[in-house]
Amino acid sequence: MSCGIHFHILTLFPEMVSEGLASSILGRAIQNGHISLETVNIRDYTVNKHKKVDDYPYGGGAGMLMQAQPVYDACMAVEERIRARRAGQMGSAGEAACIDMAGRARVIYVTPQGRHFNQSMAEELAKEEDLIFLCGHYEGIDERVLETVVTDQVSIGDYVLTGGELPAMVMIDAISRMVPGVLKNEESAEFESFHDNLLEYPQYTRPEIWRGMSVPKILLSGDHAKIEAWRLEQSEERTRRVRPDLYEIYSRKERALGYLMRDKLGHMDMIEAIRRGQAHIQYADEEGVLLKDEPSGAWMVSAVDVDMGERLLSLIPRKERDHLLLVVHQKFLVESIARRFGKTYVNVCRQAVYTRKTAPWQEEDFCIHTIQEEEVDAVYHHYAYHGVHSREDLAQRIRAGEMYGLYEDGQLAAFGGFHPEGSMGMLEVLPAYRRKGYGAALERYLIARALEKGRTPFCQVFEGNEPSLNLQKKLGLRLASSPLYWIS
Ligand code: SAM
Repeated sequence: MSCGIHFHILTLFPEMVSEGLASSILGRAIQNGHISLETVNIRDYTVNKHKKVDDYPYGGGAGMLMQAQPVYDACMAVEERIRARRAGQMGSAGEAACIDMAGRARVIYVTPQGRHFNQSMAEELAKEEDLIFLCGHYEGIDERVLETVVTDQVSIGDYVLTGGELPAMVMIDAISRMVPGVLKNEESAEFESFHDNLLEYPQYTRPEIWRGMSVPKILLSGDHAKIEAWRLEQSEERTRRVRPDLYEIYSRKERALGYLMRDKLGHMDMIEAIRRGQAHIQYADEEGVLLKDEPSGAWMVSAVDVDMGERLLSLIPRKERDHLLLVVHQKFLVESIARRFGKTYVNVCRQAVYTRKTAPWQEEDFCIHTIQEEEVDAVYHHYAYHGVHSREDLAQRIRAGEMYGLYEDGQLAAFGGFHPEGSMGMLEVLPAYRRKGYGAALERYLIARALEKGRTPFCQVFEGNEPSLNLQKKLGLRLASSPLYWIS
C-alpha cells in the first residue's frame, strides 16, 4: 500500500505535534501507513553555538523573530530527503537521475496573515504527495526566508496564537480525512458540512423515538433517491438559515456552473477556476458570469450580450482597475473594455480541452522533472521572444514547482508547465531538439499530472498557431468553437 500523504512539520516543538497527532483516527492512519508524519526540530539546524534560533527585530519592536538560517537549512534538509525518497521509489540508479517527478513539495507557512483555510483547500491539498508545514513562534519569521522557501501562506482564522503548531495540526487533521483509507467509511467525508459550501443535513440514530420525538419518517422509508433529495433540501434550508454567507456562495456557484456548462469547452478556464476553489465569483446568473481567479489575479467574464457584459464590467471593483488583467469570452466585450478602461493589448486564443479521463502518458522513457531555480535564465532565454511572460513570471512558476523540463543527456531540451490559473502552456522545444516529439511528450506528461490532481487539462493556443493547434488535436484535446481574449 502506498502512503497517501507525507507530512513534514518544521517546528521548535516537535513533540507537541507528534504527540498531538498520535491518538484516535490520525494515530491509526499513521500506524496503518495511510499518512506519514515527520517532525523536524528547526533548532537542530542552527549554526549558533548556543543553539539560538531567534533574535531582535531590526527597527525595534516587541518580541523576537525566528532567524532565516535554521529555517532555511531545515527546509532544505527535508526537501533533500523527499527527493531521495522519490528517487528510491523510481527504482534503478539510471532512473534516479530523473527524480522529483511529482514536482517540488509545497511549503506552507501557517500565519494569521495567510489565506483562510477551508474545506476546499483541504480537499485540494489532500491531492499532494508531500506537504511541508512551517510553524512560526515568537513574533514570526524573518521575511527573507519566507520569500525564499514558502509556496503558500495559510491562516486558520482571524486570531493570533502563540505558535504555528496548532494551526498545522488543525490543517493536517482536515487534510488527512480526505486521504483514502484514513476514514473507515470513505463516503463519510464526502457529504459533510462545507462540502460544496453546504452544511450537513440533520442526522439521527437509534432509538426511533426518544423523549417523544420521532425520527423523520422519510429516513425509515428505504427509498434512497427520496432520502438524498430530502437531505439536500435540509442542507440547503439549514445553510440558508444559519450561514447565509455560505449559502450565497453555494447558490452563486450553482448559477455560475449552470451558465458556463452551456459551452463547456469555451468556458473550461472559468469552470476549472471554480472547481479548484480558486475563483471569487463576483456575479452569476443565466445571462453571464464575472469571477476573479485568485492565483493569477485575472478577471474572467462571459456574457450573453453587450448589456449584460457592460453590467458585469461595472462590477469590477474600482481599486482593481489600474492593473487589470482580463479574460473575456466574447468579442463585444473587447470593445466595451477598450471604451471603459482604455485597455487595448489583446491576445486572441483558442481554448483546447482534454475531456477524457485517462492520460495519454504511459510511463514513457523520457526524463522529465520539475525545473530548478538555477535554470530560470535558460528558460527565459528561450521563451522571451514570445514577449508574453517576464522573467519574473517564469521564475514564479518554477518556484511553485509548476514548470517541467524534458532532459536529454542531462541537458534541458524542452520545457512547459501550468499557468497560475491552471492552463497548460509555456511549451517550448529548444532549437537543437526539435522534430523528436519532445513537445508532444511533455504535453502528454502535463496532461497526466493535471488528471492525477483531479483537474481537467486545458490549454489556450494563440489564434493562428497552426502547429500547436494540430498538436492539441493529435493529443485528443477538443477545440472550443470560438476564441477568448486576454486583455492587459
Ligand atoms: N507577529 C505575527 C503577526 O502579527 O502576523 C504573529 C506571530 S504569532 C504570535 C506566532 C506564530 O504563530 C506565527 O508565526 C504563525 O506561525 C502562528 N500563528 C498564529 N496565529 C495563527 C493563525 N491564526 N493561523 C495560522 N498560524 C498562526
